[in-house]
Amino acid sequence: MEIKEVFRKKNVKETLEILEHYQEQCKIIAGGTDIIIQLREGIEKSSVLVDISNIEELKVVKETEKWIEIGSGVTFTEIAREFTLHDKFSALVEAAASVGSPQIRNAATIGGNICNASPAADFIPPLLALNAVVVLERKNAIREMCLEEFIIDKEKVALKADELLTKIRFKKLQTNQGLGFSKLGFRKALAISKISTAVFLELEENNKCKGTRIATGALGRHGLRERRVEEFLQEKALDPSTVHQGGRKLQKEIEKRLYGRPSLAFKKEAVIGIFHKAVDKAFKSCKIEGGI
Ligand SMILES: Cc1cc2nc3c(=O)[nH]c(=O)nc-3n(C[C@H](O)[C@H](O)[C@H](O)COP(=O)(O)OP(=O)(O)OC[C@H]3O[C@@H](n4cnc5c(N)ncnc54)[C@H](O)[C@@H]3O)c2cc1C
Repeated sequence: MEIKEVFRKKNVKETLEILEHYQEQCKIIAGGTDIIIQLREGIEKSSVLVDISNIEELKVVKETEKWIEIGSGVTFTEIAREFTLHDKFSALVEAAASVGSPQIRNAATIGGNICNASPAADFIPPLLALNAVVVLERKNAIREMCLEEFIIDKEKVALKADELLTKIRFKKLQTNQGLGFSKLGFRKALAISKISTAVFLELEENNKCKGTRIATGALGRHGLRERRVEEFLQEKALDPSTVHQGGRKLQKEIEKRLYGRPSLAFKKEAVIGIFHKAVDKAFKSCKIEGGI
């Protein structure tokens, strides 16, 4: 498909007008690191593009008393910089810094990572673990939904043709809450996919798990919450034995989900290590003395 027109907009309002006018014919281009390849390979067939990379209002990270809001046009380089001094969110710095190369991180945006919804999208598991909400705007309307509901399937999101993802929002972490992220790198020569885990913990006295949210990447058709493992850890005191059992539960889930896949043998072993690391980091980020 030939590109007939490329619009470069400087604000959200004008972008929404273009989207409303062209509907399915039109696609957003942010950093372009996914969509350019898809256009070249003929996977993406839109004939009109709206470039949003110059829209300043989409590049804002805002903190209120309870919430953190990240504009969809914020790049991974900017996320790594913004959250460096935020001791509760070192997991976000880690996840952002693990994306591609410096050149990719300078262009790739959080909005593009979410809307492309690749099974291996690195920022989706931490955002799922934070129970993030996406803000979707169209001309004269705005709606919000849980990120988990927004991701419908592999590379498929609940975005209408005339909608723009403008913000991602999640609650700030309390002292007894923490977030951990761990990822296993990509080894091309061995054709092993990268896998990742993000863990949110809320601990009470004696390390009792009052709340947990666990999400994985590249271990299913898209980034997923691991509810069975969450249920298992709920109300238990976190110690080496519970974490070990939690890892085994996750392994069982992966065995069922990836049954028959050549990658299963590797992934079911590798997931244990990255789960342990993510739990450990989440625990440390809870500011609880000592270790698990
Ligand atoms: C060499 C290389 C290495 C990579 N490594 C990694 C990696 O390690 N980890 C990882 O997670 N990803 C990786 N990626 C994938 C890619 O960089 C990310 O998915 C990136 O976040 C996409 O963002 P973008 O701004 O470039 O999106 P684009 O390519 O501009 O857009 C992607 C999709 O999202 C839609 N979109 C973008 N923004 C919006 C919006 N605000 N509202 C609605 N729709 C929107 C577009 O229409 C398109 O369908 C890599 C890519 C390359 C080329």
